[in-house]
Amino acid sequence: MKYNRIIVWFRNDLRVHDHASLSSSIEKGKEVVPVFCFDPRNFRELDLGISKSGSIRTKFLIESVDNLKKNLQKLGADLIIRIGKPEEKLIEMALELKADAIFFTEEVTEEEKKVENNLEKAAWGKGIETKSFWQSTLFHIEDLPFPINQIPEVFTQFRKECEKFSRVKKTIGLPTKINFPSESIDMGYIPKLSTFGLPDKPISSKSVLGFKGGEDEGKKRLLTYFWENDCLKSYKETRNGLLGADYSSKFSSWLSLGCISPRFVYEEVIRYEKGRKKNQSTYWLIFELIWRDYFRFICRKHGSKVFQIQGIKNNVDNWSKDKNLFFKWADGLTGIPFIDANMRELNQTGFMSNRGRQNVASFLVNDLGIDWRWGAAYFESMLIDYDVCSNWGNWMYIAGVGNDPRENRYFNILRQANAYDPKGEYIRHWIPEISQIPASDIHQPFELSTSDLNKLGIDLGKTYPHPIVEFKI
Ligand SMILES: Cc1cc2nc3c(=O)[nH]c(=O)nc-3n(C[C@H](O)[C@H](O)[C@H](O)COP(=O)(O)OP(=O)(O)OC[C@H]3O[C@@H](n4cnc5c(N)ncnc54)[C@H](O)[C@@H]3O)c2cc1C
Repeated sequence: MKYNRIIVWFRNDLRVHDHASLSSSIEKGKEVVPVFCFDPRNFRELDLGISKSGSIRTKFLIESVDNLKKNLQKLGADLIIRIGKPEEKLIEMALELKADAIFFTEEVTEEEKKVENNLEKAAWGKGIETKSFWQSTLFHIEDLPFPINQIPEVFTQFRKECEKFSRVKKTIGLPTKINFPSESIDMGYIPKLSTFGLPDKPISSKSVLGFKGGEDEGKKRLLTYFWENDCLKSYKETRNGLLGADYSSKFSSWLSLGCISPRFVYEEVIRYEKGRKKNQSTYWLIFELIWRDYFRFICRKHGSKVFQIQGIKNNVDNWSKDKNLFFKWADGLTGIPFIDANMRELNQTGFMSNRGRQNVASFLVNDLGIDWRWGAAYFESMLIDYDVCSNWGNWMYIAGVGNDPRENRYFNILRQANAYDPKGEYIRHWIPEISQIPASDIHQPFELSTSDLNKLGIDLGKTYPHPIVEFKI
């Protein structure tokens, strides 16, 4: 054993399976001390007047931390909780507990990197070793067929080269036992939403799923989606859906906080392919996980540029800063039903389909011309599956400041609405006040005459807004 006591700092890796820093600390340390820090900077109010992490997302985090604590207890350990800056709290704890090392998962983006660097500097000054581990992608950074600074800018090239020249490492087995110190330690407590000044906001019963955080729930969702409901074999055909639990996997929230690892999902896909069926759909789930990897590696390559208005393309456009229009978009009050329904789903459940995300993002940046970073910040606050790289990467892409060789990712909202919600069921689910409009007109109520609308009991401007932009059909 090289170390007497190792602190394992948990971040977006809230699981005990396939966990590199936990497994390595068990191997290298006589005793292991798992710690999670709720960093108040993640709950601060942004300039837009919203919390950096809203209620629904924070609740999912709290549930995930709670489940991690239970799973660590089953292995003979526990999870110490602190509220404060990790670079301070972890050093205090290391000194107090006489730990000789801190192990953690490496992150890639600006704020997270700053915390890591400050921690490493402070630890070095006190003679405490630090060691970081790579573990949130399908392909390990060491197995990429190119150095980070030469990651292809175009997704297809990235994917093809990874598929040809790389391989997915096997998952790391579940630990059987963790040696936790026997002395009395202040374990801290799991905070409530009110600790961060956030109101308790239950997920609407209209949600696609009753999302609950934690490794156990993530694994349960996989069991249901792949094995019980047998949905993987038709994923490619259903993945652009809008309503219901099973049109797509809904794994994103658990992947974002690391409650399940992408390699675990990958191994389950392979098991399904061997035991049930192998087809385009089973491959397509892996294809989407490679998108996830791609954004993480692109963020690693381009650093803080992914948060800047010009993105990684250095395009400087005249973005609007119209807060009034922005909050009409955010509140689902644009008068364009397909946009409003999606934004209401996001606000009431913390989730939105991929099809919805592409449309509302395109509408904000292309139709309203509003600063794409406001949209990304709003999603950051609201999305239960917020992932810094997937979010800011996708927004950059749609805003035309990312890597897409097709330049402008413009979505024709009405065409999309009619194609993906031809019967208007999605609109009726989220905008009951216009549910009486027949399917042929429900996506464009503003095209109906006042008398036709009145006959349906709709008064545009009163019961549902006039559109905030003009649309040509
Ligand atoms: C503007 C915008 C913002 C987004 N923000 C996020 C975010 O913060 N967090 C997040 O996890 N995803 C984000 N996405 C990607 C995608 O919309 C979600 O991952 C997906 O809708 C989650 O549902 P699912 O798990 O059922 O996906 P599935 O269709 O079942 O896909 C399986 C998994 O593949 C990954 N994946 C799928 N599509 C993408 C994609 N376009 N980019 C990256 N990974 C993908 C996810 O991990 C997902 O769980 C964003 C997309 C857009 C257009």
